[in-house]
Amino acid sequence: MPATWHLGNRLRCLSSRPHRRRSHGWNIKRAPREPLKSIVPLTTSEIQGDLQAYLEQSEQIPSLVVIAAAVTESGFVTVAGGLLIQTKAPQGSKALEQLRERLQELPPLDALLSSGQTLPEILDLIFATVPYETMAEQPLQFYCSCSRERSRFALITLGSEDVQEILNSEGEAVIDCHFCHERYIFNREELQELLSELADG
Ligand SMILES: [Zn+2]
Repeated sequence: MPATWHLGNRLRCLSSRPHRRRSHGWNIKRAPREPLKSIVPLTTSEIQGDLQAYLEQSEQIPSLVVIAAAVTESGFVTVAGGLLIQTKAPQGSKALEQLRERLQELPPLDALLSSGQTLPEILDLIFATVPYETMAEQPLQFYCSCSRERSRFALITLGSEDVQEILNSEGEAVIDCHFCHERYIFNREELQELLSELADG
């Protein structure tokens, strides 16, 4: 996966790793440490189509992406799910095409998820004639790697001048995680303690 990517009006991939691009059987290796930026334009204005285009164009992996959610009239999401099917071998594209056709014959994924069928039952329906094996199952969990300690470290990296300025102007520092919306507040005493650490540092 790329080092960072985010969704704006385009999918962006930023990487400082050596980059190999397969083209006509050649491996082209870019110079190490040279930052490389590639941009894949949004084409469908639907997240599943654009993700699929990104995986196929930038990662160069044949992929099938289906994302679905069932929403009530009041806007409440009752069920949400997605499929990401990728192939490694080039001949896997045929199986991917079979699965794509099979999905078009079936009810939409949100209807399948809402039907009360279990995930293995839905997989059996989708894979139908394509043999498959379940390698692992993992329970779904909401997780964010942010923490108070990491937020504190972010303040330290600002440096004493900026922390002092926050202290003078705001009296506290408020750090919002844009992924999970957790809020970390550092009060005057904590900022002063942090400043003395920076001074000792
Ligand atoms: Zn978070």
